[in-house]
Amino acid sequence: MLFSHRTTARAFFLLLAVGVFAGTANAAAEVPEVTAFPVVGNVTYTDDFGDPRPQGPHEGNDIMSVRHQPAVAFVAGRVQKWTGSGSYGTCMLYLHAKNGMTYVYIHLNNDLGPDNDNKGGCKNGVAWAKGLDNGDHVKRGELVGFVGDSGDANGIQPHLHFEVRKPSGTAIDPFTYLNRSKHLLFPRPRPGLGDVTLTLTPPNDGFDTLTVVSVDRAGLRSESTHYNIFVAPTTPNVSVVWPVGLSASGFVLNPGPGMPGTFTFQPLMTNVVSYEYWLDGGDHQTVAAAADGTAQVVVLSGGLGGHTLHVRSVTGTGFTSGTRNFFYIVDDGPIVSSTNYPEFDAGGGAGIPGTFTFTPKAPGIVGWAYMVNGGDLLTIGAGPDGTGTLVWTPDEDGFMVLSVFAVYANGNFSQEYDYYFNVGPF
Ligand SMILES: [Zn+2]
Repeated sequence: MLFSHRTTARAFFLLLAVGVFAGTANAAAEVPEVTAFPVVGNVTYTDDFGDPRPQGPHEGNDIMSVRHQPAVAFVAGRVQKWTGSGSYGTCMLYLHAKNGMTYVYIHLNNDLGPDNDNKGGCKNGVAWAKGLDNGDHVKRGELVGFVGDSGDANGIQPHLHFEVRKPSGTAIDPFTYLNRSKHLLFPRPRPGLGDVTLTLTPPNDGFDTLTVVSVDRAGLRSESTHYNIFVAPTTPNVSVVWPVGLSASGFVLNPGPGMPGTFTFQPLMTNVVSYEYWLDGGDHQTVAAAADGTAQVVVLSGGLGGHTLHVRSVTGTGFTSGTRNFFYIVDDGPIVSSTNYPEFDAGGGAGIPGTFTFTPKAPGIVGWAYMVNGGDLLTIGAGPDGTGTLVWTPDEDGFMVLSVFAVYANGNFSQEYDYYFNVGPF
């Protein structure tokens, strides 16, 4: 059987009278939405608030538990340890929230061994958490004490008598608040007793999330905490100029095979003295940075297909930035232009000859093949420099696509270039 705690209530009002409660009590204070269940581990409890007890109505809920089970802070607040009178003394704790609410923990442990020996007294490490001082601020879920049977619960099942009191001192039923509180797998350690400091190097520029889970000796994992950081970018900017320049209509053209690209590296951190760079999986090269931290290198484009130039900067103190992966595509589709039939535009008209210039992106071109609107494949020869000149006269107005292939000495065709234009006005 369980007893009431009218002596507890009296002690509480005594605390009020002697001004232990600093700050202004808020008359509209409420229990916050998020709370930590005050006992860690398996418990049972019922809505026994107001139940008749020998000394009057029960002013809290009895959370049936196991001796030495951790008691944790229901909310963040300031703690006040208290030892009640009586043969073995009731070990208690008041948790004062900033909003004026008070949470009361009663029957904290006073036993040293696994059984009811009453040899521990109301002391830190027995009733209360190690190092817990009156007036200490604790965070929600932080270890504050241990469940026991001190006071008038001596000899019965260890439990936490838990009260919720308004700033006025009136006890209210804790049951709904206990039901919605979060059960912790283990207490939040007291500061300094479980803190771990580690040094990490962010893996990426920009947003990174550090996820932390604590694990106890039994392998139980806590819920995870996510810590988001923004890492200032250190990865250099890379740009390139290829000899092919722009298409007739202003698009950036892919380089041809083996073309020299002039790459510019620009630092995104200070004190950059050199760059390390390599093409695809090739050998790493190093180039010194100019006084302004930039550098230029010439790199050959490589064969047909996709390539990546990897670039990272190094500071005078030896710090290496993140790596920029600069991707580009090499193709040998020819460059096509025409002065009187401009690309993606309207020009000329039916019966007006057009002059089209074909420029190869690759060496060794001996001829050209072309077709208009998917018609017959026709050929013309190439000049000594590989270029070709087609004079073609449309016999009707309208939208045209001129498909052009460069022809290698072995007869192979280059990739196709499609040149779109309109004969006559739109
Ligand atoms: Zn009780």
